[in-house]
Amino acid sequence: MQSKMNALVKHKAGPGAAIVSMDIPKLGPHDVLVKVISTAICGTDLHIYSWNKWAVSRMKSPVVMGHEMSGIIVKTGSAVRNWYEGDYVTMECHITCGQCYQCRTGQGHICRDYSILGVDFDGCFAEYVRVPETNLWAIDQQIPPEVACLQDPVGNAVLATASSDIGGKTVMVTGCGSIGLFAVGVARVLGAAKIYAVDVIDYRLNIAEQMGSTRAINPLRQNPVEEVLLDTEGDGVDVAVEMSGSEQCLHYGLQTVKNGGRLALLGLPEENVSLDLTNEVIFKGITLAGITGREIFATWYKTSALLKSILDVRQVITHKMKLEEYEDAFRIVQSGQCGKVILYP
Ligand SMILES: [Zn+2]
Ligand SMILES: [Zn+2]
Repeated sequence: MQSKMNALVKHKAGPGAAIVSMDIPKLGPHDVLVKVISTAICGTDLHIYSWNKWAVSRMKSPVVMGHEMSGIIVKTGSAVRNWYEGDYVTMECHITCGQCYQCRTGQGHICRDYSILGVDFDGCFAEYVRVPETNLWAIDQQIPPEVACLQDPVGNAVLATASSDIGGKTVMVTGCGSIGLFAVGVARVLGAAKIYAVDVIDYRLNIAEQMGSTRAINPLRQNPVEEVLLDTEGDGVDVAVEMSGSEQCLHYGLQTVKNGGRLALLGLPEENVSLDLTNEVIFKGITLAGITGREIFATWYKTSALLKSILDVRQVITHKMKLEEYEDAFRIVQSGQCGKVILYP
């Protein structure tokens, strides 16, 4: 095997990244080496690439970027017993401590001391990635690599959307980036009666319609609160899923969820937001749910089962590019005129 590989590295504090030739990672006893087939760009990668406030506070460079991938195991550490060369895998990108209260009570996705591959440790925008064996997830051969690498973000959507019973219910998704688009698809296949998709970019609303939204609303032209209330005879929706991080969308959700309904929050606001707790939350008796990551591995089982049976996410993949084309790829992601952008190392 070659000793060097190309990787997309966050090489310095500041915007951008660079392709670097570096040593193929060495394995600890409980690691495996995966030859990466397909990767996908996530919002987190854009934060790192563009060097926003969160990245400044969190990242130490240099680090290989990327945490959404599929690939084949080419080498296993000396103590690895249940994984083999040739296994087709993807990975959970959160490395949990295993020791805190949350980890020890089956809530590892909200571990108090976790690290992230592609943020704290070298990630998968590379020819090879080292993965701790406990983070591996086996993929069914019938799922193609460009879909297999999406199980992490589809899992976010599954956790946000399928945590409440949505069969026959009305759902609103604000923010139709890729996780929002996956959420529309999840709501569709789990039998939501009506699905409202809200975004300011028509390109994304078109994909939302392909994913099964019953109504696409662009707030630049229509007021989502008025439209949804009109359409639901004043009741509002049972479940709202906020994926954008925009304060405006948060209020759309709060004002559109029916009394007693649920608002799942996954989009990250960059600044503090203000709420009218009295009228928007308390008197409505609604439940706000913070959603982060995926339940390890309950969400993975659910997501895999959906992808193998009734959930088709291929419409969300709008661009397939080579890793070397990363500058163009990030430009496209930044523009918002895309669904999921796949990078092949
Ligand atoms: Zn991601
Ligand atoms: Zn923990």
